[in-house]
Amino acid sequence: IPKKAAMYAIPYEYYEKYKVRRYGFHGTSHDFVSKRVGELLGKDRKDLKIIVCHLGNGASVSAVDHGKSVDTSMGLTPLEGLMMGTRSGDMDPAIVGFIAEKENLTAAEVINICNKKSGVLGLSGISSDFRDLVEAAAAGNDHAQTTLEAYAYRVGKYIGAYAAAMNGVDAIVFTAGIGENNAQVRALISQYTGFLGCEIDLEKNKAAVGVEAFISTPESKVTALVVPTNEELAIARETVRLVNA
Ligand code: AMP
Repeated sequence: IPKKAAMYAIPYEYYEKYKVRRYGFHGTSHDFVSKRVGELLGKDRKDLKIIVCHLGNGASVSAVDHGKSVDTSMGLTPLEGLMMGTRSGDMDPAIVGFIAEKENLTAAEVINICNKKSGVLGLSGISSDFRDLVEAAAAGNDHAQTTLEAYAYRVGKYIGAYAAAMNGVDAIVFTAGIGENNAQVRALISQYTGFLGCEIDLEKNKAAVGVEAFISTPESKVTALVVPTNEELAIARETVRLVNA
């Protein structure tokens, strides 16, 4: 990703001394899935602007502009970005000091809570597993419903941001456990993509569970798809490429 996307606005010396910058994660999956989108659209991904939503227990969004990742939501560590199973994602960094003082914890202990006890688990108070969350929301649990809505809202905001980062988007693709299987979350996210000209066909969306599928309407300016990720296959291919190099 370019330096303008990688740099944190903190004293530059921390980058020089410790290489503190945004790195991102899930690169294998973003690479595999964006390549597959090109194949499914019958185009080279070098001709496309793609937003990949990797929504698993860990979750990140990437902007793949003409075959190259230009931004991604995780940072120096996987804590940044989306709300995840147990990770908070983006939050005011001052919260760490505030909670540490109030609860008599160290910063490292609060960060540990942000990594392991926050996100979907922390906000809902129910589970880090989306299946439990959906079940609880359907049963009328308010916390579960708020968590579902907050989760989708954040993904929607990243999609908007990355469409701006690339000055447009041709395809939005959902992958990983939640992205591949949870039509309800995809439908909630689609509330925020209409302004881009991305219209989801709710019936196609509902039918797309764990399979490759187009889920946008034929009229949609932006194509929406589900593409199951396959990080093991991508790693195996990379290994072969390296060994043969
Ligand atoms: P991953 O890290 O990619 O394995 O994704 C794990 C997340 O995907 C968990 O929150 C699961 O609840 C969710 N998930 C996996 N399978 C399904 C499914 N069939 N329906 C809904 N959510 C699922």
